[in-house]
Amino acid sequence: MSQNPSLRERVRSIPDYPKPGIIFRDITTLLQDPAGFRETVDLLVAPFEASAVDKVVGVEARGFIIGGAVAHQLHAGFVPARKMGKLPWETVSAEYDLEYGTDAIQIHTDCIARGERVLLVDDLIATGGSAGAALDLIEQVGGSVVGCSFVIDLPDLGGSAQLRERGYAVSSLIEFE
Ligand code: 5GP
Repeated sequence: MSQNPSLRERVRSIPDYPKPGIIFRDITTLLQDPAGFRETVDLLVAPFEASAVDKVVGVEARGFIIGGAVAHQLHAGFVPARKMGKLPWETVSAEYDLEYGTDAIQIHTDCIARGERVLLVDDLIATGGSAGAALDLIEQVGGSVVGCSFVIDLPDLGGSAQLRERGYAVSSLIEFE
């Protein structure tokens, strides 16, 4: 992880959103900045340029924006991991814990061929619940995970450490407490 000041200052921090006590890290201000968006994608791609990535999986919804650009640059295909009920074909699903309750994501059963090399991309990792579920799905359909790449890591919430404990290569561009 490198702290990237020029990217960090383009992220808007919104106190008490979506509820009191939470600081929401808003990446729309980073994405809308031409140089910021390009640099973000370039930096996410760099560690995986020689990894022969076949598919990039992006988690709904901000992971689609970043994952699509990363996939294009890596000459890889793009796979959306979507919220329940949004995908039209046969799916596999994985649940993950939220602060209160659970949520679930799905991918198509035929989105990754057995043995294909897969990079997981999302805008932010907090508890790692959604990323962990996406990784489970990738492996369930036979994908081989080459790594996970996030714009922002909130390390105090433990998600990136958990993914590393599970043996995954995790990279991120910016950390916030
Ligand atoms: P986790 O599953 O790791 O607890 O939470 C990460 C997911 O929640 C990501 O898909 C991310 O988009 C979303 N998320 C949680 N907090 C924030 C935040 O402060 N800013 C942004 N941009 N996304 C967040």
